[in-house]
Amino acid sequence: PTFFLGIDGGGSRCRARLTDESGKKLGEGITGAANIRLGLDAAWSAILGATDQALSEAGLNADILNRIHAGFGLAGVCGPADVDFLLSGKSPFASVRVETDAHTACLGAFAGGDGGILIIGTGSVGYALIGGVAQSIGGWGFEISDDGSGAAMGRAAIRAAVRAHDGLSAASGLTNAVLAKLGPPARIVEWASTAKPGNYASFAPLVLEHALQNDTVALEIIRHGAARLDAHIKRLLELGAPQICLMGGAAGAIEPFLADWARASLVAPKGDAMDGALLLARRAA
Ligand code: BGC
Repeated sequence: PTFFLGIDGGGSRCRARLTDESGKKLGEGITGAANIRLGLDAAWSAILGATDQALSEAGLNADILNRIHAGFGLAGVCGPADVDFLLSGKSPFASVRVETDAHTACLGAFAGGDGGILIIGTGSVGYALIGGVAQSIGGWGFEISDDGSGAAMGRAAIRAAVRAHDGLSAASGLTNAVLAKLGPPARIVEWASTAKPGNYASFAPLVLEHALQNDTVALEIIRHGAARLDAHIKRLLELGAPQICLMGGAAGAIEPFLADWARASLVAPKGDAMDGALLLARRAA
């Protein structure tokens, strides 16, 4: 028999879903970050680890890897060169198709039909597939882009904490909580020297928690991020996306902060990014 595997590889976690030929789910797995900009070896080990878990949940083992047709949606994929590099001699699968995680999220959300998505996860990106033509906005990584993402909000909280520590702005419950976790700025400097987007994004839940308690610093961070995300939705609508789905780990928490007009364009996704990756695998096989 033949099997299909859908991988959703983001900036904090990698999820795998294995199905049989009929599309019946056999098993799932979840591991750490698979953004290829964090390193191809790390991405591969996250993918294979999540696949391993899915296999064992299905009662199968690595002997069948060469009967699996796989679709990968990976954060950090920018073009065909990345894909060739990722795959060179490393794949144990019968076939692999690689796209950005935004592409597979969009395929999953609209079951291959037209539409736009906004991922709000560790990173953020807007993406639309309209008549088979892909358009992507933002999502260039949190150093230069990814407005409203978990990493951007987490970093904003840390910056606010450092400002409050130095007496440049008022302290709040959020800034105190960040300093309690990370220590004084001299320690944060050390932490930041190796911190990955996922490490910054791990502070996003703290921002949300404090925003819900009306912490002014937290509310300001979320409102700023939400306004930037509204702009992504506006752009997707301008590009002709008939409907928009919010995807990604922080989507549910951020949605209430979006503008009413932006929320009005949202629909529930038909499937998730792993469903999209499975569709990619099936089309290729
Ligand atoms: C990455 C994109 C990705 C987005 C959403 C960004 O940080 O650069 O490739 O699509 O996050 O995961």
